[in-house]
Amino acid sequence: MRYPEDHAAFLDFEQFYRTGFVTRVQETPPCQHAGFLFHDAESRGCHRWIYCPLMRVFALLLLAACLLPAQQDRYQRLMRDLLIFDAHIDTPRYFLDEGYRLAAEHSYYELDLPRMKKGHLGAVFFGIYAQPQDYPPQSWLPRALEVLDALRREVAANQDQIEFATTAADVERIHASGRRAALASLEGGHLIAGSLGVLRMFHQLGVRYMTLAHFATNGFADSMTGDPVHNGLSPSGRALVREMNRLGMLVDVSHISDKAVLDAVAESRAPVIASHSSVKAIAPIVRNMPDKVIRAIASKGGVVCINFHAGYLDEAAYKVYYANRPARDREIKEVLSRHENDPARWEMVRAIQRKYFAKMPKTNYRLLLRHVDHVAKLVGPAHVGFGSDFDGISGMVPEGMEDVSHYPVLVKGLMDMGYSDTDIRSIMGLNLVRVMRRAEEVAAKQ
Ligand SMILES: [Zn+2]
Repeated sequence: MRYPEDHAAFLDFEQFYRTGFVTRVQETPPCQHAGFLFHDAESRGCHRWIYCPLMRVFALLLLAACLLPAQQDRYQRLMRDLLIFDAHIDTPRYFLDEGYRLAAEHSYYELDLPRMKKGHLGAVFFGIYAQPQDYPPQSWLPRALEVLDALRREVAANQDQIEFATTAADVERIHASGRRAALASLEGGHLIAGSLGVLRMFHQLGVRYMTLAHFATNGFADSMTGDPVHNGLSPSGRALVREMNRLGMLVDVSHISDKAVLDAVAESRAPVIASHSSVKAIAPIVRNMPDKVIRAIASKGGVVCINFHAGYLDEAAYKVYYANRPARDREIKEVLSRHENDPARWEMVRAIQRKYFAKMPKTNYRLLLRHVDHVAKLVGPAHVGFGSDFDGISGMVPEGMEDVSHYPVLVKGLMDMGYSDTDIRSIMGLNLVRVMRRAEEVAAKQ
C-alpha cells in the first residue's frame, strides 16, 4: 500500500495562532476514489472505512487539541520579551520627501510606529541613501545628511515610543523599557565623498553601519550590479574597513561583489553583516549571496540578514520584475515630472508600482523562511537574521509579510520549523546585537 504525500491533510496553524482556535482543516485534493484517502496502487482500489477523510480529520483534531495549547503558551512566553531587530528599512526618505509621519498609522508603505508595535518590532537600522543613479554626485552627501536629519527629527518627536540608539547596550535598554530603538546606517560608500573624515563625522552623528557600495561601483568597492574595476576592494576600500573597525561601525557587505565581500571579511577585525541579502542557492539572481560568501561571513562571526523583496526570494518573480523594470521606471519618471508639485503624485507612483507588482508571480513568507533556514542549516542559526528592505522594495513584499506588523508570523513559522527558543531569539534579533557589541569591543581595543 502506498501513501501518496500529496494527499496529506494539515491543520491551519496560521489561523490557530491568530485566533487561538482551529476551525478549519486545509486539505489537498483527496484520492480520485471519492471518500477515501489511501489508495492501494497494486490492486488499483480503495478500501477500509478507517481511511475516510473525516476519520483522519478527527484524529488530527484530537492530536491538535493536545499539542496546540502548549505551542500557543510557548509562543506567548517567547513574545513577552523577544527582541525583533530588522537590519534594513528605508523609510526615512519618505519623512523628508512626502511628509510621512512615523506616529501615524498608514495603509501604504511598510513601517510606522503603530505597525511596529503590532508587529513587536523592537529595533530597526534605518537606511540613509541617495542612489548613485538618481542623484548627481554633488547631491549625494547633502542628501544623506538631510535624510539622516529627517530620521533624527522624527525619532525625537516621538520619544515616548522610540529612541535613537548607537550601541548594543542602547538597543537592550530601550527594548527593556518597552519602546523601539532606531539606528542609522548609510547605504553606499559614495555618500562619504571618498573621505574618511566624512565617515568619522557620520559616526559622530550616530551612523553605525555603512554598506561599502550601492548599485554602482565606487572608489572603495565593486558593486555586484556595477563594473568590476577593483577586483573586489580597492586599497582605499581596505583602509575604509580598518577605519570602520577603529570606530566601531559595522561593515555591511550587501550590494558588493562576491570578491569584495571576501576581501572585506579578510580585512575586517570585527564581524561583518550583510544587512539585506537573500540566498543564491534558492533564488539564483545577481543580488543574492552564494553559499561560499555566506560561509565566509559566518567564519568571522557575521550575520546574513534576509531581504524580503519578492524578486530576490524567487527567480521567476525576479525575471518578471527585471523585464518590466524599465517600463515601470519610465512611467514613474513621467508622472513625477508631469505632477511636479502635486502632493497626489506619490500615490500615483504607488499605483504604478502596484500595477507592475501584480504582474509578478506570487511569493509568500514561507519562501522567505526557506532562505533563513538555508543559511541556518549551512552555517548555523547564529549567522542569520532579517533585513527586510521594507520601504526600499517598491511594495514588492511576499504574501503574509506585507509590512512590519506581520513579524510575528516569522516567529510562528520558525517554531513550526522546529527551531528552539534560543535559536529563534538569535535569529529574530540577538545575532545583530551580538555583532554590534563585538564591533564595539574591537573598537575599544584599538
Ligand atoms: Zn539596498
